[in-house]
Amino acid sequence: MAGPAPIEQVRADVAILGGGICGLWTLAHLRAQGYAAILCESGELGMGQTLRAQGIIHGGLKYALDGALGAASQALTAMPARWRASLQGERAPDLRGARLLSPHQYLVAGQGWGSRLAGLFASKLLQGRVAALDAEQIPEPLAAALGPSARHAVYQLEEPVVDVPSVLESLAHANQEALMAITPEATRLRYAAGHVAGVDVQGPSGQRLEVLCEQVVLCAGAGNEALGRLMPTGAAPMQRRPLRMVMLRGALPDLYAHWLGAGTTPRVTVTSHRDSAGRAVWYLGGALAEAGLDREPLAHARAARDALATLLPGVDLSACALAVLDVERAEGRQAAGLRPDGPVLHHADGVTLLWPTKLAFAPLVAEQVAARLAQRGVRPGHQPLPDTRRWRRPAVGVPPWDEVTAWH
Ligand SMILES: Cc1cc2nc3c(=O)[nH]c(=O)nc-3n(C[C@H](O)[C@H](O)[C@H](O)COP(=O)(O)OP(=O)(O)OC[C@H]3O[C@@H](n4cnc5c(N)ncnc54)[C@H](O)[C@@H]3O)c2cc1C
Repeated sequence: MAGPAPIEQVRADVAILGGGICGLWTLAHLRAQGYAAILCESGELGMGQTLRAQGIIHGGLKYALDGALGAASQALTAMPARWRASLQGERAPDLRGARLLSPHQYLVAGQGWGSRLAGLFASKLLQGRVAALDAEQIPEPLAAALGPSARHAVYQLEEPVVDVPSVLESLAHANQEALMAITPEATRLRYAAGHVAGVDVQGPSGQRLEVLCEQVVLCAGAGNEALGRLMPTGAAPMQRRPLRMVMLRGALPDLYAHWLGAGTTPRVTVTSHRDSAGRAVWYLGGALAEAGLDREPLAHARAARDALATLLPGVDLSACALAVLDVERAEGRQAAGLRPDGPVLHHADGVTLLWPTKLAFAPLVAEQVAARLAQRGVRPGHQPLPDTRRWRRPAVGVPPWDEVTAWH
């Protein structure tokens, strides 16, 4: 009878747990600085929140609408340019292999907003990032979708929209040799002389690995709730915010826009995608996704389609197939369950646990992890990566429009 699998031991500078946008961007950033960093993923890359994101690289507008462009959210205004630099190959990680779906997101506001928006957007931080469009400046196909007699104001926002699957493919491809598939249950921190000295992980077929390293980074999204119990300081509090996302599939133009209703959270946010068969899909977020949780899913999807049909008289939605996806945001816990206005990081000894709050914040989070390493005196050793060729590499997961099979 075969005995227990032998335990391998390897050395690295950093071990990252969780391969969503945060883990993958941090891995790429640290490796570009000369750190020997590896990433362990317990499922498929991105199959937490990242692949379910709309891909909007927010630039602070949402916070400005709330009148809450506070210190942490001010950092968001720098994110669109930071992402563009990577998408154009000007900064690491090189994301020239990823697709930009749209250079801008648009904001459509009813007449009721009047001059209020001009006031909210007057913040110095947003100058040059929001432009009010005259009727003839509204680009097709948005102009056609809004219809000829529409009474609204349209703004162009400096918020690019990225194709998230291609971003993950790009990061995973460039860092293939640093990726390892693991099972989540057996993960333990290693200690030496009372300090964190690495992490023990187990592969899908039971093989065990001891990673001796200077820093462990926990960025497992909702998985951080369980991993957080390993923190030397005790569990880091997490909150889940459930969303019910609706998808429409059919003959749809490519639109990337928020619609403002009476409140400051966009009533609905539309992004446009293609499924694996090349069909057009609209993915709907905004307040709509927070409102449908107590409704029967298909009734919610139909109500969303009907609400959209009144906003977009120029598009026929009657023949679209509908689908619903329930998903949770995992964030650092806030008073009264409010949305955090920036990334949440907890540091204890040689462990950092973090939630980015937004996909857009991934570059900032990677820099904050690097700053923590520098603060702890962990310098890039420029040592080779441990040889993990015998380990299975995790694959990139699928986006919602290919994940969901129940279309109506
Ligand atoms: C519906 C929706 C739409 C969104 N839209 C946007 C948007 O347009 N723009 C924006 O900026 N943000 C958006 N967000 C927020 C954004 O998706 C998240 O902030 C971001 O993707 C979180 O990334 P992450 O890498 O921290 O976590 P995740 O993407 O959740 O990844 C965590 C990874 O860790 C793995 N894992 C879990 N447990 C373990 C373990 N024990 N060991 C190893 N691995 C583990 C998981 O399998 C997963 O791959 C959206 C979120 C949702 C839910």
